[in-house]
Amino acid sequence: MTPNRRELLAAERGTLYKEAETRVALVYPSPYRAAMSSLGYQQIYRTLHGTPGVAADRAMLDVPRTLEEDRPIGSYPIIAYSVAYELEIAGLVETLERANVPVLARDRDARHPIIVAGGPLTFSNPAPLAPFCDAIVMGEGEELIVELVALAREAGYVRSAFIDALAGRPGYFVPSLHGETVPPVAAVADELLPARSVIATPNTELADMFMTEAARGCSRGCTYCVMRRSTNGGMRIVPRAAIIGGIPAGTRRVGLVGAAVTDHPDIAAIVRDVVDGDREVGISSLRADKLTDELVGLLARGGYRTLTVAGDGASERMRRVIERSTRADHLLASARFAAAHRLHALKVYMMLGVPGETDADVDELVALSRDLAAIHPRIAYGLAPFVAKRNTPLDGTPFAGIDVVEDRLDRLRRGIAAAGLAARVEVRPTSARWAWVEYMLAQGESSAGLAAMDAHRAGGNFAAYKRAFAARGVVPTGPRARVPSSREIIELRRRSVRPA
Ligand code: SF4
Repeated sequence: MTPNRRELLAAERGTLYKEAETRVALVYPSPYRAAMSSLGYQQIYRTLHGTPGVAADRAMLDVPRTLEEDRPIGSYPIIAYSVAYELEIAGLVETLERANVPVLARDRDARHPIIVAGGPLTFSNPAPLAPFCDAIVMGEGEELIVELVALAREAGYVRSAFIDALAGRPGYFVPSLHGETVPPVAAVADELLPARSVIATPNTELADMFMTEAARGCSRGCTYCVMRRSTNGGMRIVPRAAIIGGIPAGTRRVGLVGAAVTDHPDIAAIVRDVVDGDREVGISSLRADKLTDELVGLLARGGYRTLTVAGDGASERMRRVIERSTRADHLLASARFAAAHRLHALKVYMMLGVPGETDADVDELVALSRDLAAIHPRIAYGLAPFVAKRNTPLDGTPFAGIDVVEDRLDRLRRGIAAAGLAARVEVRPTSARWAWVEYMLAQGESSAGLAAMDAHRAGGNFAAYKRAFAARGVVPTGPRARVPSSREIIELRRRSVRPA
């Protein structure tokens, strides 16, 4: 259970308080624990507070009144949402309903706040947010959110004047102007990097960790990923001195954040700097093909207990098809490093239901499990069903099917049990049903957002979503309606990959 507002504030270090002419309710449509683990959310909080005349007050799904001001979010002139992924649309609906703000933009008038959104979801498909928002900040939002708040203030918070002011400006998706056509994402100036956390609190998954960006974006080209190099110009690297120099005195835990932190050319030196200062370290993304004995040794010194890497494709063939450069030998090397440095476990993320996958690919994963378990006694798979996202080469690829994903999962479990590996290899799947809901929203238009609203109001369970998608006539509208062949995937990849 989330502690109450007073307890949350008492446990925080770094909370920003400020008198300001313009106050923005900055809302995260998931619980506090998730909100305060989000570096993007903290960065926008810091950015708004750093803007003359502006302050941001936080609220979350489980914190209905703002933390800094103890006010309902409906009393603010602007409510800004940070939305990470598709299933949080229900949280946006819930927080508006609770604040007595009409959920649909078309039902709001001069008495109601301006509602805007931004966040990671905008890198793939923000169209389902359209019915609820007056404007959506696309992509990297540090500069645009400042401009947006200034424009809203200049417009006297009059919705029509605000929307007129946004017309023609790049980086904003204004549903009343753009309809279903989503404009491209924005990128901020390199000088604004790195994002750094402001507030440390024990009430998150990353308890009391100072998060700092080590790199933004990714220079790789995995065909299912929205952070691939074509999204926002590849990977931008934060210099080692800027990362280390920005860590506040007295920090005991440092989180290095980015889509591909271990691709940073100075990663070992940065981690050494952190742990030499007698601090713990966390890295948001370890690439198995970038691990070295030195780096894993430093991570072990920095408090690592579980080494977590991603393989994603179930077999070598599938990893090639999705252009994931991780190979089985990289995963085996990861297990050796984890064993050599006495880490408790190796966790490997994998996907099931990737286009073109067959039972033979799952059987290869069973064989790999045998090899991994021979090296390390505790292997855990984090298994997620493949969900096609917009702005990726695999956009529009159909969902494999709940029954197909569950059958493959079952085959994997049976294979692991038959090989006598059940005590050494753990399988931790995410729900195929909810992956299907995510898929419908990821590939949907504004009608998918309306269905999420209906489903939330009907109890928010899987059956409610299924009924709501059918009632709203939601059909995925990506560019393909069938599984592409391997030859087509290679062609799509060739067309979509730009030089890093
Ligand atoms: S390495 Fe990771 S972040 Fe980079 S493109 Fe592949 S999946 Fe995306």
